[in-house]
Amino acid sequence: MKRFPYWLRQSVRGNENFRGTRELISKLGLNTVCQAARCPNVHDCFSAKRCTFLILGKICTRSCRFCAVEKNRLELKAPDKEEPLKIKEAVEKLGVKNVVITSVTRDDLADGGASCFADCINTLKSTGRGLKIEALVPDFLGNKSSIEKVVSARPDVLSHNIETVPRLYGKVRPESDYNRSLEVLRYAKELDGGITTKSGIMAGLGELREEILGAMGDLRKADCDIITIGQYLKPDAGCLEVEEFLEPGEFDKFSKWAKEAGFKKYYCGPFVRSSYEFSTPRHRNNGGPLEQYSSSESLGFARDKLRESRRYRR
Ligand code: SF4
Repeated sequence: MKRFPYWLRQSVRGNENFRGTRELISKLGLNTVCQAARCPNVHDCFSAKRCTFLILGKICTRSCRFCAVEKNRLELKAPDKEEPLKIKEAVEKLGVKNVVITSVTRDDLADGGASCFADCINTLKSTGRGLKIEALVPDFLGNKSSIEKVVSARPDVLSHNIETVPRLYGKVRPESDYNRSLEVLRYAKELDGGITTKSGIMAGLGELREEILGAMGDLRKADCDIITIGQYLKPDAGCLEVEEFLEPGEFDKFSKWAKEAGFKKYYCGPFVRSSYEFSTPRHRNNGGPLEQYSSSESLGFARDKLRESRRYRR
C-alpha cells in the first residue's frame, strides 16, 4: 500500500457524539455507508451526528473494485419493511435536517429496491419537519420504472455516482455501464425538471485529467447540477490500489473546470465524498455557506489535522 502524503493523514478521535451516533445506529439495526464502505470522514461525520443511511441490507450484488461493502449473494436478505420507520427514528433522535439515503445495489430485486427508497422518502416527509432529503441511488439496471418510483417521491436531490471515467469501467465497475449511469441522471431530470441531480467521481484510479474533463462534459450533457470529486483511498485489502495521490491544487483545478462547465455547485477536494454537501461538517468549508468547496481550504484543513495529530501523539 502506498504511503499517504501529509494532506491525507488524519488523527482519529471520536467524541461523545461519535459514540452516541454509532450506538443509535446499532441499536436500531440500521446500516450506514460510512461504516460499510469505511469512509475516511466517519469520525468527523458521526461526531457531528451526521451519517448516510445504507438501506436494503449491507450486502451488495455487484463487485465494484473500489468499494469495501460486502459482496456475498448467498447472504442477501429481503428488505426490512421497518427500515423507513427506523431511519425516521434515527433522524429524529440525531436532530438533523439533512438526510442522505443510499443503498447497496440489489440487482436481485424486481425494482432494484426503488420502492424502498420511495418509502423512506415518504416516511421522512411525513414528519413535517421540512427535512432535506438526498437519495443516492444505484443504476437500477437502467430500469426506467424504478427511476420513476424514486423521482415521484420527490427527494430534494437525486444523486447517482458515475465514480470514474468510461475507460476504467471494466477495471473499476465491471458490472456497470457508464452510459447507463448517465442515463439515470438524464432521465430523472426529464421526469422532473425541478429536481436537483448530482454525481460523484473518485480521482486517483489511473484516469487522465482530460478524461475527468470529458466526464464533466458528459454529466453536463445529462443536465447534472452538482458534482463531487474526491481522492480514491483503498478502503480494503481486496480493493484496487491507489494509482495517484492528487495534490490539493489539482482539486482546485477541477473546481475551476466544474465552474466553467456550468455545474451549479461543485465540491472538489481530497476528502470530499458523494454525500459531501449534505453531510460533511461545515468547518471544512470555513463555516460559510455550502456553495462550493475549494481544496485550498482542504489543504489548510489537512495541515491543521496534521498538527493536531502530532499534538495528539505527544
Ligand atoms: S462523508 Fe458521507 S459516507 Fe463519509 S462518513 Fe460522512 S456521511 Fe458518511
